[in-house]
Parts: sequence; structure tokens; C-alpha cells
Amino acid sequence: MAYQICKKCVLDSNIPGISFDLDGICNFCSDYIKRELPTKLNYELLEKEFVKLTKRDFKKYQYDCICLYSGGKDSSYMLYNLIKKYKLRVLAFTLDHGFLSDEAFFNIRKVVTKLKVDSIIYRPSRELITAVLKTGIFFYNNLPTSKELAFVIGHVCWPCFVLIAMSSIKFAVEKQIPNVIVGTTPGQIRQKKFDLVSKYNDLIDVYKTMVVPMLKLLKVSSYAHFTQDLDLSFLKKLKVLKVRLISFYEHHEYNEERVIKTVENEFDWQRPRDTDSCSSNCLLNSLGIEIHRRKYGISPYAIPFARDVREGLLDRGESLKTINVDLNMELVKHIAQELGVDLKNISSVKEA
Ligand SMILES: [Zn+2]
Repeated sequence: MAYQICKKCVLDSNIPGISFDLDGICNFCSDYIKRELPTKLNYELLEKEFVKLTKRDFKKYQYDCICLYSGGKDSSYMLYNLIKKYKLRVLAFTLDHGFLSDEAFFNIRKVVTKLKVDSIIYRPSRELITAVLKTGIFFYNNLPTSKELAFVIGHVCWPCFVLIAMSSIKFAVEKQIPNVIVGTTPGQIRQKKFDLVSKYNDLIDVYKTMVVPMLKLLKVSSYAHFTQDLDLSFLKKLKVLKVRLISFYEHHEYNEERVIKTVENEFDWQRPRDTDSCSSNCLLNSLGIEIHRRKYGISPYAIPFARDVREGLLDRGESLKTINVDLNMELVKHIAQELGVDLKNISSVKEA
């Protein structure tokens, strides 16, 4: 098949299972059109649902919820709303994998100070971080599920997500916090499988589909001793059943312009200049993008962006620009070196 990009979304012929009709529209888009709901989502109702969910056990414990907080624009906007609009008692939780940009930290400090919110910045050991990342980069192939996760979510983003999920769940259980609120944007929420349709249901679903494959891979690798750092005891697993995972942007209409305007006006939030343009907080992202380009010839952002472009949430031209952005290769090489990842060992899946 000659190289082409879908005329409606941003997926190109490098996506496995893609095909194009005579108008240049991909099968994911035409399937989507067929499936499309007759009416638009009713965000008024969804927001009410959000209130109902988050007010469960309201004021019963020290905190009503953990907010997964990266310091990026989307989670800053979410944190602002949880406190100002919904009046929740929030613990902001940030995972520092050691590659957050300095400017992201600066934003975090500005936002949590202005909102007077309690904040935890949790940094696992470099050994654990490296073990999980290397597993996602080099050993992802050993299970069908992990192969899929690495492709759909990213060789770097998936391991990082596992670290965030497990460390925040542990905090929630230990501090008896009933809800964990996550600010992934719509396209990111739904990416899970090659069919690009599924969405996350709850914490148990996340644990089973995202975390367990990583634990399995760690167990059979030289990193087995790290599984206990990530996994939960039986008792904690029972307690986790009570924690609820709530997605902010599944219940609120996503509008990038409004998000940016709010965080700039309220916090003087500044887009970090030291990250690539897909991420406003994470330097590891560039490595993740480079690995995806080498392996599959696409950006890991193509999949979530395709979804959001299709739904009219993102502009197609802007998204294509972001997807094809030039990376700072000095930075990519530096990060790879820090992690002991030799980029020469990352080859195209087509050649393998
Ligand atoms: Zn398409």
C-alpha cells in the first residue's frame, strides 16, 4: 500500500489493520461514523453524574479525592475545577520519575500554592523506574497484551502510567481516600486496544488490563524483585475495591482553548519550553516518540489524536503538525543514556 494519511483523521498507512476507501477515509473513521451516537453527549447530565460520584463519602475522610496531577495544562485545569467549582478536599498527587521538566515543577508550585491544596510529589527509586521503563521498551513483546499496550499507549507512557496508577492507589488505600480522579483527555481515555474503541471502566479494569501485564513481565525478567514494589498485598487489593477511579474529561466537555485560557489567567501557567510539543510536562515523552517512530513509523500520539480529531475536539492540521514535530535529538539521546537504553537496539518491527 502506498503511503497515505486519512483525509478525516490523522492515522496513516503505518497503522496495523488500516485500510482506506476511495475517498481516502480510513476504516477506523468509517466504522466510527457508522457507530456514532444519534445525539451528542449531554455534558450537563454527565457533570451531574460527576458530582454524584465525587460526593460519595463526602467529608467522611481527610480527603475526598486524589487528583492525579502532572502540572500540565489539562490536569491543572482539572485541579482548579475540583477545588473551585466542586469544593472537594483534594490531595494533588504527582509522580516524579526524574524526567519532569523544571518548568513543569515551577507550574506545579504556582498552582498548588495558589489553590492552597495539599500536594505530594512521589519519586520512586531510579532502579524501579528504570526497570519498568526498560520492560516497556525491550520486553513488551513477551505477551500479546503487553505488545498491544506498548503500541497503543506507548513504550514509555504505558510503564509510566503503571507507576502512577500503582503508587496513587497505594496512597488512596493508606490514607482512606475514596476517589482517584484522572485527567486524561478523551482520546487517551479510550485507547486500549487495536480496535481503538474501548474505554476504561474502573480501577479493577485498569489494574487488570494495564498493570497486570507489566507485573507478569517483571516477574519473568531479571527485574522480578521489583514486582513487590508495585503490587498490592491481598488485604490492600480488597481495600482497592472501594476506591473509585473517576475520569474528569469523560464528564466534562474538552475545550483546549478554554483549558489554556483558564490556567494562564488563574495561575500564570506557562507552557514549558524544554518539552516536545505533545507534552507540557514530561521530557521522557520525546524518547517515547522517537521509539515509536523507529519501531512503527508513527507517533504514539497519532492514535489518541485521531480519536479527538474525528470527534471535532482537536484541529486536524494542528494535530498533524504536533505529531510530526521535530524532536530535540540531543535531549532524546541524553535521556536514553540516563536510562541505559541504547537507541541502536530499537529497530523497526517490520524488519524484525
Ligand atoms: Zn481516519
